[in-house]
Amino acid sequence: MDQVVQQYLDKYGISAATRAFLAKPQKMFIGGQWLDASDGARFKVTEPSTEGQITTVPSATVADLDRAVAAARAQFDGGEWRQLKPLARERLLQRLANLMEEHATELAELEAIDMGKSVGFARDIDVQGSVDTIRYFAGWASKLHGRTVEPSSLPGNYLAYTRKEPLGVVAAIVPWNFPLQTMVWKLAAALAVGCTMVIKPAELTSLSTLRFAELVQEAGIPDGVVNIVTGRGSVIGAAMTSHPGIDKLTFTGSTPVGRKVGAAAVDQLKHVTLELGGKSPVIVLADADLKAAANAVVNGVFFNSGQVCDAGTRVYVARSVYQPFLDELVALTRELKIAPGLAPDCYISPLVSAQQKDSVLSYIASGIEEGAQLACGGKALPGPGFFVEPTIFAHCRQDMRIVREEIFGPVLVTLPFDDVDEAVALANDTEYGLAAAIYSNDLSLVHSLIPRIEAGMVYVNAHGTIDPALPFGGFKGSGFGKDLGAEQLDHLMTTKAVWITLP
Ligand code: NAD
Repeated sequence: MDQVVQQYLDKYGISAATRAFLAKPQKMFIGGQWLDASDGARFKVTEPSTEGQITTVPSATVADLDRAVAAARAQFDGGEWRQLKPLARERLLQRLANLMEEHATELAELEAIDMGKSVGFARDIDVQGSVDTIRYFAGWASKLHGRTVEPSSLPGNYLAYTRKEPLGVVAAIVPWNFPLQTMVWKLAAALAVGCTMVIKPAELTSLSTLRFAELVQEAGIPDGVVNIVTGRGSVIGAAMTSHPGIDKLTFTGSTPVGRKVGAAAVDQLKHVTLELGGKSPVIVLADADLKAAANAVVNGVFFNSGQVCDAGTRVYVARSVYQPFLDELVALTRELKIAPGLAPDCYISPLVSAQQKDSVLSYIASGIEEGAQLACGGKALPGPGFFVEPTIFAHCRQDMRIVREEIFGPVLVTLPFDDVDEAVALANDTEYGLAAAIYSNDLSLVHSLIPRIEAGMVYVNAHGTIDPALPFGGFKGSGFGKDLGAEQLDHLMTTKAVWITLP
C-alpha cells in the first residue's frame, strides 16, 4: 500500500478488520479455494481521493474462468447444492445476510476506499440494500412453483402441469459504481432459485466482492456455488459471453459493452439480462413544490457523485418557474460538501478513476463550447484525487452532447418547456429509457403522463427510490430484463410443460 493511502486511512481511522483484510494478498475465489491467476498476473487497485495504490488483485486468465465455470457446473449438475431443499437455501441466504450485517462497517469501508464513495452512503445504502435484497429473495426460495393446467382443446385425458426449473450457471458481469450492491442484486435471486454463479467484478472495484466471498464461505454455502473471478472485461468478460458452460449472462454496465454482450448471447443462444446506461429525464411542472422538488432533483443527480445509472440528469422545467427553480438548484448544489469518501461529512466523493474524471471534464468543456450557460461548478479540484465540482448547466438545447449522452458524473443539464406535450416529447427524445421523474401535485395529470413516458421506472415527487420488491431495469437502449422484484425470478428459471396421459 502506498504511504498516501496509509496516511489517509490513519487520518479517518478504519476498523482493524478492514486493515487486516487490506494487509492480505488478494486472491480469487474459485471452487471454494483462494487462488492467484494461473499466470500470476495482477492489476493495481487505486484509491480515488489520494490516487495512491491500495493493493493488487489477480488478473484472471481464461483458464481460471474455465475452472470457475467447471466448479459452478459441478454444483449445478447434481452437486450438493442441487440436492438442497428450498428452505435450506433460504437458511443459507439468511445466514449470509446476518454475516453481512455483522460486517457492515468493513464492507462499507472497503467500498469507500476502493470506489471512492461516501462511507456513510455505502453503509446505509450499498450494504444495507444488499442485506435487504438477500433477505427478500431468501423468502422466495420456498415459494417458486408451476401450475396444473387443463388442456384447452386437445381430445383425451391428461394431467398437465408446468415446472419452474433454475436456468443453470449464471455469469454476472458487474460495473464499478455500486460494486457490492449490483453484484448482490444478481446473486440473491440466482441463489434463491437454485442457480450457481460465476461473478466478475469491474477491474476498478473488486475488494468488497472478495470480502463478500469470505462471508459466502463462512455462511456455509457449498464450495463452487459462488465463484469470483477478478479480471479484465475485454478478456474475462468477453470469454464469459461465449463460454459453453454458462447458461445465462446478467450484465450491468455501459450500453456499448451491453450491445456486445447481447450480441454474443444471441449468437450462443444464452439467456441474457442487460442493465445498461441512462440519461433519465425529470419533468418539473409549474404547480410543483419547488423547494421539495429541487432538493429531490439535487439528490437524484449528485448522489454517488452522479455515477448512478438512473440519475436524473436532464431536467425540463415549466418556463414560468424555470428561473426560481434553477436558483434553488444552484443554491442547494453549492452547499454540497466535497470530501474524500471516508470523511464523515462527504457528499460529493471523488470520481472512480482518472479516466472517468477526464471524461466528465471533457463533457463539461463540450457543453461550454456548444453554448450552454454554466450555472455552477464546472471544474476539477486541484489534485490529488479525482474530484469534480457538482455542475449545473442552464438554458441547454436538446441537440447538445451534454443533453444527449450519458456523462456518468456530477453534471446536470436544465431546459425550459412550454407545455406538457413538449415536456413528454423532450423526455422521450433519447436512446435510453431507464428512469424518469415527474414533480407535480396534480395527480390526475401525473397519472395521465406516466403511460406516455418511455422508461422502466417512473418516480413521482422523488428520484431513485429502490426496494428489493420492485423491479429495476430499463427500456430502449437501457437494456431489457429486470433485476429485483418477483420479475427477476422469471429471468432465472425456465418453464417445463409436463404431459401425463391418463387412461
Ligand atoms: P462498462 O460497460 O465499461 O463495464 C461493465 C462491466 O463489463 C465491467 O465488469 C467490465 O469489466 C465488463 N466488460 C468490459 N468490456 C467487456 C466485454 N467486451 N465483454 C464483457 N464484459 C466486458 O461499464 P462501467 O464503466 O463499469 O459502468 C458504468 C456504466 O454502467 C454506465 O453506463 C452506467 O449507466 C451503467 N450502469 C447501469 C446500471 C443499470 O442497472 N441499468 C447500473 C449501474 C451502472
